[in-house]
Amino acid sequence: MRYLLGLIVIALLVAGGLFVYAGRLPGPSIQIDKPTKYVGQTGTVEVAITAPQARFSAFQVAFEQNGKQTPLVSLAQPGDAEIKQEAPDRVRITKTIDRKVIPDLKSGPARIVVTAERPVLRGVRKTQSTATHDVTVRLERPTVAVLSTKHYINLGGSEMIVYRATPADVESGVQVGDLTYPGYPASGAKIEGVHITDPNVKVAFFALRWDQDVNTPMHAYAKDEAGNTARAEFDHLAFPKPFKKSTIPITDTFINKALPWIYDNTTEITSTGDPLQDFLQANGKLRQLNAQKIASYAHETSPDILWGGVVFHPFTNSAVEAAFADNRTYVYNGKDVDRQTHLGFDLARVVNSPVVAANRGKVLHAGPLGIYGNCIILDHGMGVQSLYGHLSSIAVKVGDTVEKEQEMGKSGMTGMAGGDHLHFTMLVNGQMVNPVEWWDQHWIQDRIIRKLREASGS
Ligand SMILES: [Zn+2]
Repeated sequence: MRYLLGLIVIALLVAGGLFVYAGRLPGPSIQIDKPTKYVGQTGTVEVAITAPQARFSAFQVAFEQNGKQTPLVSLAQPGDAEIKQEAPDRVRITKTIDRKVIPDLKSGPARIVVTAERPVLRGVRKTQSTATHDVTVRLERPTVAVLSTKHYINLGGSEMIVYRATPADVESGVQVGDLTYPGYPASGAKIEGVHITDPNVKVAFFALRWDQDVNTPMHAYAKDEAGNTARAEFDHLAFPKPFKKSTIPITDTFINKALPWIYDNTTEITSTGDPLQDFLQANGKLRQLNAQKIASYAHETSPDILWGGVVFHPFTNSAVEAAFADNRTYVYNGKDVDRQTHLGFDLARVVNSPVVAANRGKVLHAGPLGIYGNCIILDHGMGVQSLYGHLSSIAVKVGDTVEKEQEMGKSGMTGMAGGDHLHFTMLVNGQMVNPVEWWDQHWIQDRIIRKLREASGS
């Protein structure tokens, strides 16, 4: 009897100990992924909750502002929130918030509050945890209004816009189809007769890519950190441009001359051992990787116009061997083996001719660049850049400032080149564009300087 009593006491102590222990077990772990900092006119709350086997006895996500809590979603009332089990032990809750969901939503500080509870000790006890995340609500929309007029854009060409966006630090620019072109403060337009000090006035250079539809929609936009957006249409006319077709015969002599340099100076691709496959790999995959690398230099652009508004050097003393956006078919042993678009001008003079800077700028790249051989990329500011390919030697280094028509090296045939020539192209925010426009004083005057002078009221 005494023995039995002893057993009961021990069993009760064990059960009591377990009960206390279970109550101290950690609750579910909570991670508030969104919003990170701001909530705009509309926002997304995204929360991940983790517990063994994703078993929860309760959870709730709430929005708290000015002392008032608005429940957004709970296990009992999921509403229209998306609740997804994304791992064996984790659920992800996503809920869109706006003034319909939170009628009292106001600009100012707010907090996301999440509580979650899981069963322990076979459901006899529950253990809870809470997480909070402070955010700022910003309901004021940015504004954008276009100041410049008469925008004409050729397929594969460039254009420029002057607009006003508020607040002054809002991200803004031009959207052309799925491509965006950032705007820069107009105070950086350092051109004679141009003087714009209003910090809300911006300038954006943009392009209609050679492979976009001529009717691609375009507009100016502004977007703040809270995700609030504004857009403005602008008057514009886009013109189709016929691009030439050409045939390039590929011989073993060419392959044996051009490819070793490319493979020796490239880490992105390695030789397959087969001459034709090596050519196709360089002409296709490497061409694409090179384009990505070239586009990445857009992030290093200066916010100032570095070239003073003078026309770009037109290389008129050279023979034009290929023009912008020529559609090339490559023929090997009588068979069509590849197709690529040539996004630049091929300009030939004599072997080892001086290669000069098309305009004033800063050297961003000076060295091997895949199919472009020894290559220089110059920044002219506000996303406008120029590229010089196939050089035999380079006499400038990254960071140098070069003046218009300053010699930067000698022409050659490094990279994908059948003979000594300069491959030249212009870039707008990383997109290759037709240089012909930049070589035309009238175009520079009408597309760029006119609009800037009109905006400065002179
Ligand atoms: Zn070329």
